[in-house]
Amino acid sequence: MDERIWVAGHRGMVGSAITRRLQSEGRNVISVDRSVLDLRQQDEVEFWLRANQPTAIIFAAAKVGGIIANSNYPADFIYDNLAIQTNVIHGAHKAGVDRLVFLGSSCIYPKFAEQPIKESALLTGPLEPTNEWYAIAKISGIMTCQAYRKQHGRNYVSVMPCNLYGPNDNFNLETSHVMPALMRKFHEAKVSGAKEVMVWGTGTPLREFLHVDDLAKGVVWCLDHYNDYEHINCGAGFDVTIRELAETVGRVVGFTGDLVFDTSKPDGTPRKIMDSSRMRALGWKPEISFEEGIASTYRWYLENVAPTAVAA
Ligand code: GDP
Repeated sequence: MDERIWVAGHRGMVGSAITRRLQSEGRNVISVDRSVLDLRQQDEVEFWLRANQPTAIIFAAAKVGGIIANSNYPADFIYDNLAIQTNVIHGAHKAGVDRLVFLGSSCIYPKFAEQPIKESALLTGPLEPTNEWYAIAKISGIMTCQAYRKQHGRNYVSVMPCNLYGPNDNFNLETSHVMPALMRKFHEAKVSGAKEVMVWGTGTPLREFLHVDDLAKGVVWCLDHYNDYEHINCGAGFDVTIRELAETVGRVVGFTGDLVFDTSKPDGTPRKIMDSSRMRALGWKPEISFEEGIASTYRWYLENVAPTAVAA
């Protein structure tokens, strides 16, 4: 049968990286724009799936955002994510799609999970409050895949990435994650000659960052080879403090001023490095170094986003 892989969320940072990866392997990707199909509408999703008959689905559609967006819009984060994933997973089953890869996030794990966090830490303790709405939706997604596997024998699997960055990230300072926010702040400070850049929180939390192209390779690998009930972690294998991140991004961008920490903003979870040894044992490993990944993302930002782009 001819392959038709639907990448749901193909315009986002993750979905676009997965699409590039699949296309580089010469594989047939199908997609549908948000203006044509609202994934929150169950009937529309089921109709579209019946009409388009994908042979596999990679679920990279999600309402995502940084620490403040998550705390300010809890209803959007829980409702949108529960609705779109339920519609797509149940719709996939009804349309006879036997293969689906669901993407989650390392925030599914308890706030004080033992580090590095193993897959088995899921549901062993309370969540980090700043993003528990999103986390609960993603945990439900993992369990929805497991339920359809258990009851209907479907080959639906879940992959949990760490914090991601790369091309097509969201650079809106109010809703973005830390990496694109800092890149933009440093760039704008460099252009305007500002002496200081504001970094949220204390700078001490640790985060694990993976370039989205490395994740995409892992996800496509999972599509082809991973078929377990349990979800699987996909992380870089090292973490950095927010201060170290800020220093690295500042160096890449060429900002020479000072960092000022705004401790009125939340730190979020102190640390969430994942144990990705199961993914490693399957033969996947990240290939893009931290500095190189930040540098190429900054070049992408300069070409595609920066309104006042200057040559780096
Ligand atoms: P998280 O990994 O879910 O906590 O999401 P974020 O990427 O939004 O935040 C990670 C950490 O970076 C938190 O400790 C934030 O307080 C910190 N941070 C520092 N500056 C910024 C910023 O400008 N934007 C964001 N989103 N986070 C920042």
